[in-house]
Amino acid sequence: MFTTLKNRFEQGCRTSAYPKVPVELASRYRGLPRIVPEASAELAARCAEICPQDAIDPVRRLIDLGRCVFCGTCERISKGAFVSFTRNFELSVAEKDHLLTAGTLPDLAKHSRQHFKRLFGRSLQLRQVSAGGCNGCEVDLNVLATPFFDLARFGINFVASPRHADGIVVTGPVSRNMKQALLDTYEAVPAPKVVIAVGSCAITGGPFRGSPEITEGLDTLLPVDLFIPGCPPHPMTNLHALLKFFK
Ligand code: SF4
Ligand code: SF4
Repeated sequence: MFTTLKNRFEQGCRTSAYPKVPVELASRYRGLPRIVPEASAELAARCAEICPQDAIDPVRRLIDLGRCVFCGTCERISKGAFVSFTRNFELSVAEKDHLLTAGTLPDLAKHSRQHFKRLFGRSLQLRQVSAGGCNGCEVDLNVLATPFFDLARFGINFVASPRHADGIVVTGPVSRNMKQALLDTYEAVPAPKVVIAVGSCAITGGPFRGSPEITEGLDTLLPVDLFIPGCPPHPMTNLHALLKFFK
């Protein structure tokens, strides 16, 4: 008992001071990509061809963050001369079209729904629905409950029942087997309700795109309010999105 108390005392408070104090992620982290406008058409076409997600539009010089799995192949192939990844983890948007980017995104706070801020700004209860994903997105959502992120200090919690929730957080490509369960969960949440798509699977089908077993885009089934891209999105990306959109 004494040893436990001593350890706790020595460890002190490990909770991040974010958003008051900025957080710097590791140098190998791939955040918001930036397209180099001067790159040759040939290089842009080569990157588009090699992209496993068909996420690069070489003519308009845009990357679709909803499809991108942040594998870094385009940066590696172009040696940073066409695409380079920044460490900016603020990737979330309120409109799916905004995910098409050359390196800038609109301010999420300006696109959030004001009635959501009024209703859920002080207390937001969310039900997570894992709709056929690989568990990567789910793990990085779970991490938000750990002492470093401590999501509950912002009044945001994950709850067990949709009847106790203000909205759903959906991960995975919504496999055929999960589709009805997802729709039932959505129906069980009392209105007004929020729908959040987390990860490229939920936004566009991710690595499962083209499979007849999935739904290519949660927004084809439900009205999505917030899109959080990544494969999986970093916990800081999730935290930033929730705070900007609801607080
Ligand atoms: S990082 Fe994204 S855009 Fe680049 S090759 Fe991988 S999936 Fe395609
Ligand atoms: S987006 Fe990536 S990490 Fe998330 S469920 Fe799909 S494959 Fe897994």
